[in-house]
Amino acid sequence: MDGVCPLCKREDQVLSLAGYWGGLPPSSENYPKLRQPDGATINYLYAVGVAIVGVLLMVAGGWVLGLLVILAGAGWGFVMNRQVTAAEHKRTIWQRSKWCGRCAHVFDPKAF
Ligand SMILES: [Zn+2]
Repeated sequence: MDGVCPLCKREDQVLSLAGYWGGLPPSSENYPKLRQPDGATINYLYAVGVAIVGVLLMVAGGWVLGLLVILAGAGWGFVMNRQVTAAEHKRTIWQRSKWCGRCAHVFDPKAF
């Protein structure tokens, strides 16, 4: 049921969260509370840097150590990729979320 508040079962005070939040003054109490979650602040360059160090170590002759460092870089990149996906998922839910002005309740219409 799109746009019906799960708490009060009414829809007359229900707004899109993005629209409601966009109309709030930054000094409002709800402004920081309802803000869209940040995307993952992640720098793939660090993982690439680790992989490059691994390659240099391999070239320098320490191939076991170099290989370990490359694997660490790859694992790190994998973990960061998952964090990005999780952060994007939260942002997507925020985009479609609704706000009930009657209950001051935020809900995801797709979750009901
Ligand atoms: Zn409500």
